[in-house]
Amino acid sequence: MRIRYELVTSIICLILIASCAKKRITFKSDADHVQQQLAKLAPVSLSHDLSYLPAEEIQVVHHLVKAAKYLDTIFLQQVYEANPALLKELKKSSNTDEGTYLDFFKTMFGPWDRLDENKPFINTLPKPDGANFYPADMTKDEFEQWLTDHPEDREAFESNFTMIRRGGDRLVAIPYSEFFKDQLEPAARHLRQAADLTSDKRLKTFLLSRAEGLLSNDYYQSDMDWMDLAGDIEVVFGPYEVYEDNLFGYKAAYESFICVVDHEESEKLETIVKYLNDMEGALPIPDGYKNFERGASSPIKVVNEIYTGGDAKPGVQTSAFNLPNDERVREAKGSKKVMLKNVMQAKFEKCWIPIVNVVLAEKDLQRVSFDAYFNHVLMHEVSHTLGPGQITINGRETTVNKELKELYSTIEECKADVLGMYTAQWLIDKGIFLKDLEKTLYASNLGGMFRSIRFGIGSAHGGGVAIQLNYYMDKGAVRVDKDGRFSANDRRMKRVIRDLSRELLLIQAKGDYAAAQKFIEKYKVIKPEIQTALDKLTDVPVDIRPSFPIENELD
Ligand code: ZN
Repeated sequence: MRIRYELVTSIICLILIASCAKKRITFKSDADHVQQQLAKLAPVSLSHDLSYLPAEEIQVVHHLVKAAKYLDTIFLQQVYEANPALLKELKKSSNTDEGTYLDFFKTMFGPWDRLDENKPFINTLPKPDGANFYPADMTKDEFEQWLTDHPEDREAFESNFTMIRRGGDRLVAIPYSEFFKDQLEPAARHLRQAADLTSDKRLKTFLLSRAEGLLSNDYYQSDMDWMDLAGDIEVVFGPYEVYEDNLFGYKAAYESFICVVDHEESEKLETIVKYLNDMEGALPIPDGYKNFERGASSPIKVVNEIYTGGDAKPGVQTSAFNLPNDERVREAKGSKKVMLKNVMQAKFEKCWIPIVNVVLAEKDLQRVSFDAYFNHVLMHEVSHTLGPGQITINGRETTVNKELKELYSTIEECKADVLGMYTAQWLIDKGIFLKDLEKTLYASNLGGMFRSIRFGIGSAHGGGVAIQLNYYMDKGAVRVDKDGRFSANDRRMKRVIRDLSRELLLIQAKGDYAAAQKFIEKYKVIKPEIQTALDKLTDVPVDIRPSFPIENELD
């Protein structure tokens, strides 16, 4: 699962139109429009000082980067069959605006604008729902009918790791390992070379089993090995997310995140995790509702991104991910949540600061910091493991999720945000977080809310933030001045955060659907003064467009 914290792109249903033939390029959008869209993504150079790594480990990273480049080629094909030809034509196009179109094509991994509901900016064809995972002219019905007629094909057809193609009048499933052999073989070679060089035993085990997985099409063992990584280098490499397949959500796209572990943050997390039970005990609800019986929770790691490949590259950049997706591995070893700190910092500087400059009152502008923002996100993730999960209603064993149904994710995201603040303050009071953090915690929390609701309150996260902002405004903890600028009253915020935590936790503890509905109806709204603030943000970049200096260091 991937977390972008913002901008949930709604994919509209498009009619599938067949198109594989090589074609001349027509520019659907004018160059100015493409330039404007490109400007929504602020360019940023993403790197991290690797000088503390031994020379051979830097070589390991270089091999991983080289391997990841092959995933770019694969993903380009997975998105659209004509992509390689389009890219070639764009590169030699004599159009004076060629640079702009080429940049945007590379950013979007195809001729569709991922920032604007996949509208085409080159040619006019809508994006196929099934990307290039299925024959362009295949309908959903045809696929399903085939499986009804050929039940023995089901496993291969629904596999995350096969391409569906036509073979005469039949539909056939071709394993990725075969279809993308030309890229996977050299990629696997680089993983093996990296494995030879590294002195990190667990990394070596993972790289060797993943190289094997790329060629055998079986990723189970290497996903298991990935869970055991514990050294400096953290690498994601393979087919994972199925978001690109909007037809069935079966087919995984190849992606890579090459990262190094942030030791300072990771140590901090280890400390925090030791206090999980104490934090549960400190929740502002009666003890009977507290949940001390949770199993081992998933580990959280903080890393810095050095390079990405394939599906990790286009459009809005990932701030954190939770992998693997294989339920068998999750059952056996849990999953790993990885937060990309330097990506978050870049987003903070390029997209977050320009927002608070517009929406916050002068005195609060002096009280924002990346540290406060980052620690809140960190505690948001930790807070998902706090509070009621398994509950009993009138003797019936159930879960909060089952009882709150479609309202669950909004309430849960809201809870994680609010408890994130509550627990951050708790850690400050205990002396585990620096006292200094308190100065910027509340104003930063307020400023960040505008980034989250900027893209609407339809998503669980945006909706959860709208609830907080309105609740805080109603209770006088957040004020709007005559210029329409917002400010936080820290003392009141502390009290109101406690109140809101209690309300949300009790809704969850009681599995009270009706109360959740009433709460959401009342608070999940955009008040006029909030809308006025949001209207001022049109020129602020929506995300970042990273470049990776490590590319220039490769031999
Ligand atoms: Zn969350």
